[in-house]
Amino acid sequence: MKIKTADFVMSNSDVAKCPNEPLPEYAFIGRSNVGKSSLINMLTERKSLAKTSGRPGKTQLINHFKINSNWFLVDLPGYGYAKVSKKDKRTFQKYITNYFLQRQQLVCSFVLVDIRHEPQTIDLEFMEWMGENQIPFCIIFTKADKLKPKAIERNVDAYIGQLLSGIWEEAPHYFITSSSKGVGRDELLSYIDSINNEFFEAQKN
Ligand code: GDP
Repeated sequence: MKIKTADFVMSNSDVAKCPNEPLPEYAFIGRSNVGKSSLINMLTERKSLAKTSGRPGKTQLINHFKINSNWFLVDLPGYGYAKVSKKDKRTFQKYITNYFLQRQQLVCSFVLVDIRHEPQTIDLEFMEWMGENQIPFCIIFTKADKLKPKAIERNVDAYIGQLLSGIWEEAPHYFITSSSKGVGRDELLSYIDSINNEFFEAQKN
């Protein structure tokens, strides 16, 4: 897929106020500093479409970008646990869970993890929450340029192995990326393109 246009549409914290056009939508989420903004800029070939961590004023909002006038890319800045109640129950921020539970147009989400690190509890718990709520997602391993090919393979195998030894019966689809080297761009865009085609095909019937 060639990116012809990539336009910022809106930022807000309320899923009800997100754009109501019936276009397929893809959400990108992960811990702060995982490389999400860099990945979005790499995918869209725009230097600063998404604001990278270094920039001040980065806020906790649902950011919609319209790509090629026919799909939405959504930047959901770094998830974390919300502070809740006496029972000390851990939960993700409400605006994020509402977004995933209520957003009809959402066709696939990408959970980003840094390829150098062992699985982190918050990422595993978030994926578990997605699974429990039947929200489809893929994993994007970021910063692959920081490791040698053998280490990439080892880390990915260990990560997927850990998922399969937990609640997962099947490994999620995953992508290995490097924003600084453009790795994984074609694969990700082809994947999005194929889901877009299915989406528009289904709408015809
Ligand atoms: P965000 O907080 O998830 O949006 O993360 P950023 O995109 O702002 O990236 C966090 C830091 O990681 C920055 O210093 C980036 O330059 C660096 N970074 C992001 N992606 C890559 C990558 O693919 N390779 C390398 N080497 N560094 C990266």
